[in-house]
Amino acid sequence: MKYYILTLFPEMVLQGLNTSIIGRAVDKGLISMEAVNIRDYSKDKHNHVDDAPYGGGAGMVMQPGPVCDSYEALCQRIGKRPRVLYMTPQGKVFNQSVAQELAGEEELVFLCGHYEGIDERALERIVTDYLSIGDYVLTGGELPAMVMIDCISRLVPGVLNNHVSAEIESFHDNLLEYPQYTRPEIYEGKQVPEVLLSGHHKKIEEWRRQQSIRRTLERRPDLLAEAVLTKKEEMYLETLKAERGGEEE
Ligand code: SAM
Repeated sequence: MKYYILTLFPEMVLQGLNTSIIGRAVDKGLISMEAVNIRDYSKDKHNHVDDAPYGGGAGMVMQPGPVCDSYEALCQRIGKRPRVLYMTPQGKVFNQSVAQELAGEEELVFLCGHYEGIDERALERIVTDYLSIGDYVLTGGELPAMVMIDCISRLVPGVLNNHVSAEIESFHDNLLEYPQYTRPEIYEGKQVPEVLLSGHHKKIEEWRRQQSIRRTLERRPDLLAEAVLTKKEEMYLETLKAERGGEEE
């Protein structure tokens, strides 16, 4: 997977991503990241890339020329026109299934806005996807791009040592992950659940699925409408709901 990040702050993105698991994936050549400085495409003698909004109002708007030129120069260099993901609070909210879909691409371009955003004409010309990381406003698109790159990279084969761990964690089957435990067996008087020490894989698997269902009901019941459950698990969920209904009365 090759990521290209169009930004006014290349060092922010590269420094933030070149450590730990993602840094190692870059070293191994499983992913690559290149930050393109939009400012390098300014035709202004002072290297300006923003100006006041037409119609008045607060802040500055990034001009269309340097944004489009940085993308066109990239396309010419790599001989492809990859999807352009514009980081914006006005976009579709990024989630695990969006990440899964994007992980199938060979190249992705992340366009990071700053100030009041980017001139609409540049967006109309080059953007293919409008993506947000949540219903709040940040100062720039760099952090959202880093969040998405981190998440997508975990799905690239080989990036995690154990690919199974990416497949069965939170949001798999639209459920949250079960609680995890490690040594010591007793911490501050609290014992690790007995079943996890039993070595009985089938029972462990069943316990984990039940814990996932219970946790999702408690913390993110909105996910359950799309959860992938067996008949037996559906019955278990109904029992939990009935218990909770009883508690609430
Ligand atoms: N004026 C814009 C609006 O109201 O939609 C917000 C501009 S914001 C201050 C500056 C830049 O930060 C945006 O162009 C976008 O790239 C990025 N940004 C801010 N919040 C974001 C979010 N929740 N998700 C993705 N990108 C975001």
